[in-house]
Amino acid sequence: MTFEAVLFDADETIFNNQGIHQIITERILEDLHLPKHLAKEVHARWDFHYFSEQAKKFDARGFCIDQVNNTEALIKALKEFGCEIDYQQAEAFWAYTVEEFSKRSTPYPDALETIDTLQQKGVKMAIVSNGDKEIINLRLEKAGIKDAFAFVLAPEHAFPLSKPKPAIFQHSLKLLEINNAKKTMFIGDNPTSDIRGANQAGMFSVLIDRANAFTNLEGLLKPKMKVRSLTTILELF
Ligand SMILES: [Mg+2]
Repeated sequence: MTFEAVLFDADETIFNNQGIHQIITERILEDLHLPKHLAKEVHARWDFHYFSEQAKKFDARGFCIDQVNNTEALIKALKEFGCEIDYQQAEAFWAYTVEEFSKRSTPYPDALETIDTLQQKGVKMAIVSNGDKEIINLRLEKAGIKDAFAFVLAPEHAFPLSKPKPAIFQHSLKLLEINNAKKTMFIGDNPTSDIRGANQAGMFSVLIDRANAFTNLEGLLKPKMKVRSLTTILELF
């Protein structure tokens, strides 16, 4: 099999996000004079509101992973802990989150090596993420690898889709100008969104599982290949 392109998920496939949400939420709580030990719980609720808002808007008008959604989700989460903040304050916290996340979340060394080698071999690469497009672009620029990718596909007003919806995978093939999905490798860390979607689209799915957390994946969640380091895929090129 000759692969014509490689599609990457962003978070926890290319970028190491370990511990960053914790640091950011702790700082926000500190600012609000709330105990730092609540960080994990507050972040979980922030995430919850963020993703439930996405799910709600998905069919109606298409959701948007954007400042409005993130900001509102933070307001709702903090309210559950008895802390009321206004929209302006929440916006400032979101701006801080974008800045900190972009600064702290850097590519895994195996990702950098793989991207560099594939680029030298002239393999087309792109990113398909459910994350925030602005934060992805900032991190790619900072790591000096933005030019390695033909495009970054992430949910936005103009394109309100997220993995594992088949349309986002079809759209990425169209952008890559590839007719045969089998010739595209899709690499991600999430069996439900990345592997399921790639398998449904007929792509060659690769699960990056650095911690070896997934051992019994079945059906559409089962990747064609599971790797502990991204560099392992280089054998196929
Ligand atoms: Mg991911």
